Amino acid sequence: MRLVTVGSVALDSLKTPHGSRTKIIGGAAVHASVAASFFISNPGLVGVIGEDFPEANLRLLRSRGVDLGGLVAAKGRTFHWKGSYSGAMGLATTHRTDLGVFATFDPRVPAQWRNAPFLFLANIEPSIQLRVLGQMKRPRFTLLDTMNLWIATRRKALLKVIRRVDAVVLNDLEIRQLTGEHSLIKAARACLGLGPKWVFLKRGEHGASLIGSHDFFHLPAFPTESVVDPTGAGDSFAGGLMGWLAKRGRTGFSDLCAGMAAGVVLSSFQVEGFSLERMERLKLSEIAGRLKALRSMTRF
Ligand code: AMP
Repeated sequence: MRLVTVGSVALDSLKTPHGSRTKIIGGAAVHASVAASFFISNPGLVGVIGEDFPEANLRLLRSRGVDLGGLVAAKGRTFHWKGSYSGAMGLATTHRTDLGVFATFDPRVPAQWRNAPFLFLANIEPSIQLRVLGQMKRPRFTLLDTMNLWIATRRKALLKVIRRVDAVVLNDLEIRQLTGEHSLIKAARACLGLGPKWVFLKRGEHGASLIGSHDFFHLPAFPTESVVDPTGAGDSFAGGLMGWLAKRGRTGFSDLCAGMAAGVVLSSFQVEGFSLERMERLKLSEIAGRLKALRSMTRF
């Protein structure tokens, strides 16, 4: 096992200017693992589903090679998120968050996965992230994602887990909320002061930056014309990045920059359909094409 991801496995009910869907497959760990599966075979997923999670969703994950050895089926309902986007779709409005089986989830990383060198703590309640981190032997590179809800309601547990990871991935609103700094550069510096060596800053259509104590790198978003549903953009960015790093097996600054390009490209495909619609038919040649295009767009 090279990459383990823990995070939400969800049924999402979504509304965007392009339509709406009810209880389709979603969740941070799902979008991240699927994105990673384009770079490494059998990324491991740790999460929980309820009795209402359709078998077809599991088949879909298996068809992408996602290893479900860490996915527990529990009595009760699957985590359900209801959200909508309007206008430029830069920001999701949450209408409902039903934790369901996540409320009592006690994650267990399969014994044979605990030596995995790469760990992605995707968005989920931070004490669950902490318990997963505690079960890993000695991951070489750990990345953490979170969201406004946990920054506001679980700050203490969140700061505890942030202190122990190598990198965090946050959007502009989240990093301002976490640090109280308005300037994004000051906010990133403040975030480095909380423990991590790297901050990946997601800025939606404005692209993504990587900030370390002596390094800075920025990439534009890939200029896609059709954004149908932005759900999972952040997760596929992080999953693509981690899949790329796990494949390379290196985590120096230039590797992180190349990984970021992979993340930018994967998220550009993710937003072209609802849920996994676009990812299901995505080909490696299309990924290679956009990576090449991104490289030529940013050369000067
Ligand atoms: P993103 O658009 O990349 O920020 O992530 C979207 C995914 O996050 C959706 O598929 C949701 O199921 C999931 N999500 C929404 N709220 C939460 C939450 N409170 N905890 C964990 N995952 C969530």
